[in-house]
Amino acid sequence: MRALQLLEEEKLAFQDIEAPAAPGPGDVLVRIKAVSLNHIDLFGLRGMAFAKRTLPLTVGVEASGVVESIGDGVEGLSPGQSVIVYPGLFCGDCRWCAKSQENLCENIAGIMGFHVDGMARELLVAPASRVIPVPNGVSLVQAACVTVTFATVQHMLFDNAKLEAGETILVHAGGSGIGSTAIKMAKAIGCKVITTVGSDAKAEKALALGADHVINYTEERFEGRVRRLTGKQGVDVVFEHVGPDTWAGSLLSLRKGGRLVTCGSTSGIQASTNLYSVFQQQLRIFGSFGSSVQNCVDSLDKMAAGITPVIDSTINLDEFPVAIERLRSRDVFGKIVAEMA
Ligand SMILES: [Zn+2]
Repeated sequence: MRALQLLEEEKLAFQDIEAPAAPGPGDVLVRIKAVSLNHIDLFGLRGMAFAKRTLPLTVGVEASGVVESIGDGVEGLSPGQSVIVYPGLFCGDCRWCAKSQENLCENIAGIMGFHVDGMARELLVAPASRVIPVPNGVSLVQAACVTVTFATVQHMLFDNAKLEAGETILVHAGGSGIGSTAIKMAKAIGCKVITTVGSDAKAEKALALGADHVINYTEERFEGRVRRLTGKQGVDVVFEHVGPDTWAGSLLSLRKGGRLVTCGSTSGIQASTNLYSVFQQQLRIFGSFGSSVQNCVDSLDKMAAGITPVIDSTINLDEFPVAIERLRSRDVFGKIVAEMA
């Protein structure tokens, strides 16, 4: 069967690999239908996998599919059912797994598509504990935007930043997959949303998503505008994933007791922090990585209730290597989803 593999740094190619055998006890055989593109794919292409891995490596971290067959003892899943596959190989035994916080697993064996073989292939076998049913009303393209996109935002906003109705949030890069999701999730609970974008075309699209104020960061300093928009108070929450380019301004944009939550740093990994402002303003900074299985379930429920992902485009998996360059150049608004031929 076909798989899209990373052969060496920056080199993707389709390869023929052996199809999996019938699923064993507790396992599920899934036919992959859609794979979406993420910045973590770019980090993987650049060789930024912070653990041992062997190449060639099948890529694809975030995907949806249909159950092909189930092994003995699998309950609640049946052939033909739409599902997503949780990409983290959690242990199921540690203190965090016991609390259903799988993204803090102390014995994680890797993330599919990054450290170990991923989902850009026709068939894969996974334990039923990592296979999550997709509710009615959610398409396979939408479901391919859950584990890395919707559920990451769900974890950031609600587990970590504890965003509440009526609060004001600054969402960076509102045209990105997670940025556009954060705008929609925050608006859905009645927050005021300020967002940054890199072009006027993206500004219009962000306003159409419901953002109350959009700042083109190439034309003005966002932190000054945020101060003016909030009567010099600052925002309750900053949704960070840009890093050094925005970090100092993000901290300056917070009100007293404000919360910053970050899940990434696409502009680099070192940034200086004004510690005086951190303690004097009693700021709280949350690091957030990935999502739990429950975050995925909650995200699917939100999609079923009408909070849908922003899809930039759907492509054929053959176009993945070209489309990933659009992501690298930020020439994208929302998610690019690759469907299997
Ligand atoms: Zn664990």
